[in-house]
Amino acid sequence: MKKIVPLIVGNWKLNPNTLEAASKLAQAVASKYKNKTTPLVAIAPSDIHLSEVKKKLAKSSVALAAQSVSFYESGAHTGETSMMQLKDIGVTYVIVGHSERRADGVSDADVQKKVLTILKSARTPIVCIGEKERDEQGNFFTLVESQIRSVAAVLSSTDIKKVVIAYEPIWAIGTGKTASVEDVKEMQLFIESVLTKVYDRKVAKAVRILYGGSVKPHNAATLHEGGGMNGFLVGGASLKASDFIEIINATE
Ligand code: PEP
Repeated sequence: MKKIVPLIVGNWKLNPNTLEAASKLAQAVASKYKNKTTPLVAIAPSDIHLSEVKKKLAKSSVALAAQSVSFYESGAHTGETSMMQLKDIGVTYVIVGHSERRADGVSDADVQKKVLTILKSARTPIVCIGEKERDEQGNFFTLVESQIRSVAAVLSSTDIKKVVIAYEPIWAIGTGKTASVEDVKEMQLFIESVLTKVYDRKVAKAVRILYGGSVKPHNAATLHEGGGMNGFLVGGASLKASDFIEIINATE
């Protein structure tokens, strides 16, 4: 079976405040990845900074990602950004269903539509899933399973392999409370088991799964080695180039 190359994505969220700062941050990461093609690295700035960041990434192997996309193709949808617009700028990956978007009302049904829109443009959706909190009874597994099954319901076995799944427990996002290596490993096996039930083991093994939630330079190597996932979705630590680069190096 083909080994999955790790993917590290920096989600800048609503940062930084200026175009100049975004440009400098992108340049600092790009300069480290001029020729290196593994692991795969991507940066997801705010939409308003996409074009400038793309220019800085032009001579590097770092890919451009978007933090969200509309499921509408065009028309009277104020405040939205379409897949055609993102593709035109040079976006490769699109984050979908991040918990901060789900908190603003993005539903599983919206995630389905967005994933289909992204795949139609031959770009890669990064679908975020994860529980708000963990309970002793293990009900959080039921939630994670329902989120996976919802996406899988609209995807063939060929298409699910084009999707990246990012397991991001909400309680670990931006809180400094990282999931333990054992929790991450358990969830990797669980996600694979759900994909095996829906598709088959071969398909499940081919889907890239990321972990996200307070990944920092000090815990990245341990999480990567013991967690069994195929990379990270990094929020806060991606805003400091040296920290982000340390995290990337930890997966090499
Ligand atoms: C995220 O926003 O996807 C994330 C994982 O954030 P942080 O690394 O800051 O927890």
